[in-house]
Amino acid sequence: GDIRLERVREHVWEMPREGEMRVPARVLASEQLLEQIRQDKTLEQLRNATHLPGMTKHAICMPDGHQGYGFPVGGVGATDAEEGCISPGSVGYDINCGVRMMKTNLTYAELEGKEEELVDALFANVPSGLGGGGIVQGDVDAVEGVLDRGVDWALEHGHAVEDDLAHCEDEGRRPDADPDAVSQKAKDRGKNQLGSLGSGNHFLEVQRVTDVFREDVASEFGLEEDQIVVLIHCGSRGLGHQVCSDYLRKIEKEHGDLLDSLPDKELAAAPAGSELAEEYYGAMCAAINFAWVNRQLIMHRTRRVFERVFGRDWEAMEMDLLYDVAHNIAKKEVHEVDGEDRELYVHRKGATRAFPAGRPELPSAYRDVGQPVIIPGSMGAGSYVLRGGERSLDLTFGSTAHGAGRTMSRTQAKQEYWGETVQDELRDQQKIYVKAQSGATVAEEAPGVYKDVDEVVRVSDELGIGDKVARTFPVCNIKG
Ligand code: 5GP
Ligand code: MN
Ligand code: MN
Repeated sequence: GDIRLERVREHVWEMPREGEMRVPARVLASEQLLEQIRQDKTLEQLRNATHLPGMTKHAICMPDGHQGYGFPVGGVGATDAEEGCISPGSVGYDINCGVRMMKTNLTYAELEGKEEELVDALFANVPSGLGGGGIVQGDVDAVEGVLDRGVDWALEHGHAVEDDLAHCEDEGRRPDADPDAVSQKAKDRGKNQLGSLGSGNHFLEVQRVTDVFREDVASEFGLEEDQIVVLIHCGSRGLGHQVCSDYLRKIEKEHGDLLDSLPDKELAAAPAGSELAEEYYGAMCAAINFAWVNRQLIMHRTRRVFERVFGRDWEAMEMDLLYDVAHNIAKKEVHEVDGEDRELYVHRKGATRAFPAGRPELPSAYRDVGQPVIIPGSMGAGSYVLRGGERSLDLTFGSTAHGAGRTMSRTQAKQEYWGETVQDELRDQQKIYVKAQSGATVAEEAPGVYKDVDEVVRVSDELGIGDKVARTFPVCNIKG
């Protein structure tokens, strides 16, 4: 596009305020990534986002940014919680899509030769794809409990241990959840999907740690070279999607004036303090809880699968949760703006919270070191564990990237790639074992459709918003 950006310093670009923009916008990217960001509507969407009432400091695009529904994926926007607004499209349809990493004490050498057995067992035991139920056959009470109490519900029902709660963002429970604000239709869609990956971009990947960049932090995190870890990526399934569309519709209807003042209908927002803002926030928080339970059930099931394949208890294999981080979320948080503490709705859409040491929200395990940030790459490339960086509070309201980011649409990907060929090549050339419900999914998610995750992480590290701790590489992967 022809949108003008001014270089502030290395990796920092500013779109100056003009016209109806309430604040300037910023893009955090290298020149290489910026060129890719310019290929689609990302910058236009970022500029549009600066029109949202109460937008504070800057609307910000992370290095992995690409276009999304209204608001860019890889976007961060903080709006005043009293005078601003909350915007469902700036959270995303898959509320609390996110990732968690589980550690093990197994080494790659102990797994070699068992890849096929493991990937088959995972595929058979972790529900994936569009159809067919979840790990828990949910009834009405179960769904209400999940929405209300998050991972506490999983603990009550034997799907979690205390230690899992202590290693999840917000301990796996958003206190502001309001299950009554979630429609019956959303609950019906969710009740058979509790403990399921879903389709497309969601996956469960067994990985080995290939590099450690910060020994001291890695050792605090319990990570070392050659260690086997498990990365789980999924969200709130049909439930979260329904919550998003329910509230988009209600907000468009109720707050038409605000809608008319915005350059894109997809940014529809409820004014802070309005009934719908409160209701959406409560429903979103409930959907956040649902997604945390979803990832928890899948992780706990994975422990059982490893027990069978390796013939040892999961506790003996030290299959402990490193951390669970959301990347589609809006949260009320207090941030310093112009020397003043303000309560903001921080929208992170395709962006990960990256709080440094000292933030009170962090669990005790990480309060002195900074939170783990988990950034997946692709099924044929590395993924990363970072640590929340000291500069993140100042630059990004405590956030960084969430992935490599797509460079190609799904339609285009299916023209470029053939699923089975991708799978064969991954196995023969890189010893990566992929199993999926559909070949089309593999084509849509082929490593070539993603940007260079190493470059994304380099920018995050050099900016000091998320510091490189370790890199992993896929061993087995199951997909929807
Ligand atoms: P999302 O779909 O949540 O926007 O993207 C999450 C990120 O996950 C993508 O940007 C991409 O970098 C990464 N990703 C997608 N598929 C896979 C996979 O199979 N394995 C790994 N390790 N990363 C993936
Ligand atoms: Mn998702
Ligand atoms: Mn995601």
